[in-house]
Amino acid sequence: MRHRFSHGVHPQQNKELTVDLPIQRVPFVGRYVLPLDQHLGAPAQATVNVGERVRRGQRIARPGGFVSTALHSPVTGKVMAIEPRRAPGGKFSPSIEIHADPFATQRLTPNPPIDWLSLTLEEFIHHIQWAGIVGLGGAAFPSHVKYSMPEGKKIEYLLINGAECEPYLTNDHRLMLERPDALLQGIAIVKRKLGAKRAIIGIETNKPGAIDTLRAQIKRIHKVDVMPLPVKYPQGAERMLIKAVFGYELPATKLPRDIGIAVNNVSSLVAIADYFGSGLPLIERIITVSGSGVTYPANLIVPIGTPLREVLRFCGGLREATKSVIMGGPMMGQPIGSLDIPIVKGTSGILAFTEKEASTTFELPCIRCGRCLAACPHFLNPSRLGRLAKARRFDEMRAYRLTDCVECGACSYACPSEIPLVQLIRTAKRESHQR
Ligand code: SF4
Ligand code: SF4
Repeated sequence: MRHRFSHGVHPQQNKELTVDLPIQRVPFVGRYVLPLDQHLGAPAQATVNVGERVRRGQRIARPGGFVSTALHSPVTGKVMAIEPRRAPGGKFSPSIEIHADPFATQRLTPNPPIDWLSLTLEEFIHHIQWAGIVGLGGAAFPSHVKYSMPEGKKIEYLLINGAECEPYLTNDHRLMLERPDALLQGIAIVKRKLGAKRAIIGIETNKPGAIDTLRAQIKRIHKVDVMPLPVKYPQGAERMLIKAVFGYELPATKLPRDIGIAVNNVSSLVAIADYFGSGLPLIERIITVSGSGVTYPANLIVPIGTPLREVLRFCGGLREATKSVIMGGPMMGQPIGSLDIPIVKGTSGILAFTEKEASTTFELPCIRCGRCLAACPHFLNPSRLGRLAKARRFDEMRAYRLTDCVECGACSYACPSEIPLVQLIRTAKRESHQR
């Protein structure tokens, strides 16, 4: 049964720039920077020293707690520094800098497959955590935490997020087209280990090729369904996807696992299949590089830690008229100030815009039109939240459910006065946390 989530917006998709471009691998570069806090939760703790030689795929940091994951070297090379480096979001994060060995082949010797069937759930969760696997849809939430159930609770449904609702991004779409077998293997592993009774892959109808490919492959698989979903932003947000597929409005105080659902992005499940198939931890990911400012848009496999500058160089560089560069999609992504920051596990794309696409109009006063309220999928009042944020009245913002905001950006998109509502709310959330 298919449902719809309320509100949301319909931004122009602009996926045609890269949707037909097969995934290619970027060449190895000289320098990689790996922030220790590139996942949600406690930062990882370095287990290597400056000057140490490391192999591609070798663990270089261990989880810093339960809500944390390990980190692995994307190349064979040498640890040059362990100190703060500029990271996405503009902050300086403690990071491990590795210089690639120019004489190393960087070829991986696959390990024998891991016998996941014989693992207990606890052992399975431990493997996922130490393989460094996180949500690759953008949130970088450690995947193993979703699989750890409180006593007496059980996952009934595995919900697979193939919505890819952000405009421009096509990396998940290409993955579903090019590696359906790996995706279905990842689904089979997680479904079996969690004891889920059914797996449902939610895909927006603007990806008919992915829907057909997966439908053709799942014919022989028990209790896995593909559910086409109408195109609407932010369908890929966990709570919206649950509403769209199950018709259930998950209260802000609850997590999906509280109602027996584990939500995983398609890329995370492919990473799980790769890990159990060949012992490959999460050392690379697929991203989309697109927008009018990119000379040759592409879908790429990129080692984690590669500087943005190198990825853009591979894509022919930025056009002269480029006005802004964004890490992630245009709705939830963040503008970046330096091309030296690295690709991290949560990076789904790099977008570069010329004046034609970049928003260059000026902010105007609020005209109380209510479009931001109609757009907000969480039924918040973004207009009021924005006003309170400008006045730095953060305590009052909590009464207006500040913490329920998922920073989807639908309100900013809908606002005719170009008020940067999501940026105001995001800043208020960070500042009120620090108090
Ligand atoms: S207030 Fe938050 S959740 Fe609501 S539309 Fe704006 S960014 Fe999205
Ligand atoms: S959409 Fe913009 S102008 Fe309209 S009420 Fe919201 S903040 Fe005000």
